[in-house]
Amino acid sequence: MDYQRIADLLFPNVTLTPADVEARYPERVLPEGAKVTRLSPSPTGFIHLGGLYQAILGEFLAHQDGGVYYLRIEDTDSKREVPGAAEALVETLGQYGIRFDEGIPGQGGAYAPYRQSERVEIYRVYAKQLTREGKAYPVFTTKEQLEQINRADKKAELSERDWHNDDARRAQMRSEREITERQIEENLQAGNPFVLRVLADGDPEKKVPFTDLIKGRLELPENDEDFVLLKSDGVPTYHFAHAVDDHLMHTTHVVRGEEWLASLPKHIMLFRYLGFRMPKYMHTAQIMRLDEQGNKKKLSKRDVGAGVDDYRKLGYAPICVIEYLMTILNSNYEEWRMQNPDKGYREFPLSIKKLSASGALFDMEKLNDVAKNTVSRMTVDEVYDQICGWAKEFAPDYYRDLTDAPEYAKAILSIGRGGKKPRKDYGTWQEAMDYTALFYDRSFRIIDEIPERFSREDVRAALTKFLTFCGTVADQNEWFEKMKATARELGYADDMKAYKADPDAYPGSIGDISMFLRIALTGKTNSPDLHQVMQILGPERVTARIQAMLEQP
Ligand code: GLU
Repeated sequence: MDYQRIADLLFPNVTLTPADVEARYPERVLPEGAKVTRLSPSPTGFIHLGGLYQAILGEFLAHQDGGVYYLRIEDTDSKREVPGAAEALVETLGQYGIRFDEGIPGQGGAYAPYRQSERVEIYRVYAKQLTREGKAYPVFTTKEQLEQINRADKKAELSERDWHNDDARRAQMRSEREITERQIEENLQAGNPFVLRVLADGDPEKKVPFTDLIKGRLELPENDEDFVLLKSDGVPTYHFAHAVDDHLMHTTHVVRGEEWLASLPKHIMLFRYLGFRMPKYMHTAQIMRLDEQGNKKKLSKRDVGAGVDDYRKLGYAPICVIEYLMTILNSNYEEWRMQNPDKGYREFPLSIKKLSASGALFDMEKLNDVAKNTVSRMTVDEVYDQICGWAKEFAPDYYRDLTDAPEYAKAILSIGRGGKKPRKDYGTWQEAMDYTALFYDRSFRIIDEIPERFSREDVRAALTKFLTFCGTVADQNEWFEKMKATARELGYADDMKAYKADPDAYPGSIGDISMFLRIALTGKTNSPDLHQVMQILGPERVTARIQAMLEQP
C-alpha cells in the first residue's frame, strides 16, 4: 500500500506539513510550573452548574501561579449551536469572576483561531499525516449511508460499552480496514464521501496504568476501536480535535467532566500516533442530586439549579454560588472560610489532592446556608447594588421602591450588618425582597394574628397609648421605659420574670403588648429589633400604621 499516495489522493489540497503548523504555535513562555488550562464548551447557550465548577477550577489552577486560562469553542456540531452563545458565556462567566486570557470572541490571542470550525485546515494537516503513516484510513459511503454512520459515531463518542459489545459493528469495522488503493481511487472518482478512521493498534485485554490528578491511579484498557477522526464534511470528532488543539495550544492540564474518562484510551492512542506529549488530566466528578426516593441522580438539564442562569433568576449573587462550589471543590474550604472570614475565595490555597473524586452532591439547603453567610459579610452598598440589578429585571415594583429612596433602602439593608456576628436573614435577593417588604407600604401586609386570648379592646387600649410616644421618642432606653410604663398602666407585668412567676395575676406581659405593636408595625410576630424598625420607618409611617390598626373593625 502506498500510503503517501493515498494521503495525496484523499487530501490533495493540503500542502502544509505538521512542522509548518507547529511553527505557528510555539511553546508558551511562562513561569516555571505555571499551568495552561482551558474551557472548551459547545456553544449551545446552556451553562451547566458542572461547567461553572470546571471553569472555577480550571481558572483557579491557571491563575494561581501565573499560567493561562483560555476559551476554545467546540462548535463542530453546528446543529447544536446557538448564535451569540460564546459571547453570552464569556459575559456570564465574567459575572462569576472567571477571566479568560485568550479566546474571547472578537479578541482571539496568539494561538488563534479558538473556534474549532475555523481550524478545519489544521486538522486536515494532521489527518493527512496519519494517513501517510498508515495510521488512518478512509471509509467510503454513499450519501444515504452517511447520515447513519455519522449518527452512530456520534453516539459512540461517549459509549465505549456499545463498541465492545457490538460484535457486528466490530466485524464490519475490521472488514472496512481492508480497503484497497484501487477502491479508494474508484470511490474518489465516483465522488463518494468518506470518513477518516484511525487504525487502532490496541489490545483491550491489556491494561495500561494512568494517573488522573483527580481520580488517582487508573487501569485503562488499550483502545482497539477504529473511531472516526474526520467526518465526511471534514469536520473533526471531539477526540481528534481535542488531541490536535490541546497540543497546539499547549494545554498542560485538561479539566473536563468525568463522562470523558471512558474515551481516555482513545486519546492516549491518538497522542501517541501523533507524537504529542500528553497533558495532565483532571476529570471532575459529576454533580449529583438526590431524587424523591433518596437516590443519587445526575443533576440534569431539566432540574432547577442545573443551569447557571437559574441562579440569576432566583436572585443568588454570583459570589454565593462560587462560595458554595468552593465547598464542593475542596473538602477543607469550609474550615478555611471560618478561619478567614474576610478573605476573598481566591486567596484559598486550592489543593489538587483534596479535590472531590466522586459525585459531588448538590444540596440547595447547603447553598442557602452558604449564601446567607456570604451575604451577611457583604457591605450594604454591595447588597444594594446587587439587589437593584436583580430587581430591575425580575421585580420592577421593588426596583422602584429601592431606587426612589436609596438611603431608606440602605438603612433597611443595614439591619444586623457588620460586627462580629452579623445577622443572616437572607441569602437571595428574592428573600431580601420578602424580608424588607414590611418597610414599604406597597408590600406591607399584616400576616400574623393577635392571639385570641387578647380582646380587641386590650389591643386598642395599648395601641392608643403607643400612639402618644412611639412616633416621637427616639432614644431606645427612654422608649423602652415608656413601654414598661404602658404595661404597668394597663395592668400587664412589666418584667418577664415577675410574669413567669405568677402568670395568672396579669392579662399578659410587656412581651405581649410589644407584640401588639410589632404586629401593627411589621405585620409579623417575628421581626428585627422593634426599636430599630421604628427608627427606619420614621415617625409618620409608625403613626400611620398604629392608626390603621386602631381603625380596623
Ligand atoms: N466540548 C466538550 C464538552 O462540552 C469539552 C470537553 C473538554 O473539556 O475537553 O463536554
